[in-house]
Amino acid sequence: MINLILFGPPGSGKGTQAAKLVEKYHLVHISTGDLFRFEMGNNTPLGQKAKSYMEKGQLVPDEVTVGMLKNKVDANPNAKGFIFDGFPRTIAQAEALDRLMAKKDSPISGLLALDVDDEEITQRILLRGKTSGRSDDNDERIIRNRIEVYKSETSPVFDYYAQSDKSQKINGFGTIEEIFARLCTAIDSL
Ligand code: ADP
Repeated sequence: MINLILFGPPGSGKGTQAAKLVEKYHLVHISTGDLFRFEMGNNTPLGQKAKSYMEKGQLVPDEVTVGMLKNKVDANPNAKGFIFDGFPRTIAQAEALDRLMAKKDSPISGLLALDVDDEEITQRILLRGKTSGRSDDNDERIIRNRIEVYKSETSPVFDYYAQSDKSQKINGFGTIEEIFARLCTAIDSL
């Protein structure tokens, strides 16, 4: 089993790279952002709960997010492994993920962090906003808030997995193929 955390600030290219990694390594991709957007699109109780947070660029509360994540992992008992994208975003989520995967005897193999600066990600998100239809991609204030939340609440997750030598930084500049090649090199040496 390979269980990867694809890490990095909003707009760093996690979704794009996850799609390519799934194709190559046949892992199950779980994006909490995509799951929330699906629930919102169907106007489910979970989607309604997530909406008010997402629209402001805030994190959805941990107990909501962790519950949804667990359901998705449990729904894939025959997976060869997982790519977690956009999760964990807090230390509490990381601890919950470790407990869940320990129960399955399938710990996190590594965390790969796409390294891109604020200027670049703001530009990328605004560009994506033109076609994504995501209201959180169209307002610079909300984007700035997401970046702030990333720095204060999410970036400590990198250090959390660094304690067990599982965190690696990957240069997130360059073409999609260049970044993909860097990720593959890192995964193949896990
Ligand atoms: P991006 O990484 O581009 O910001 P995502 O699609 O991963 O976008 O997430 C969009 C929004 O969904 C976040 O800003 C947040 O409100 C919510 N969200 C996604 N994942 C989590 C999580 N693990 N914990 C809390 N909220 C989350």
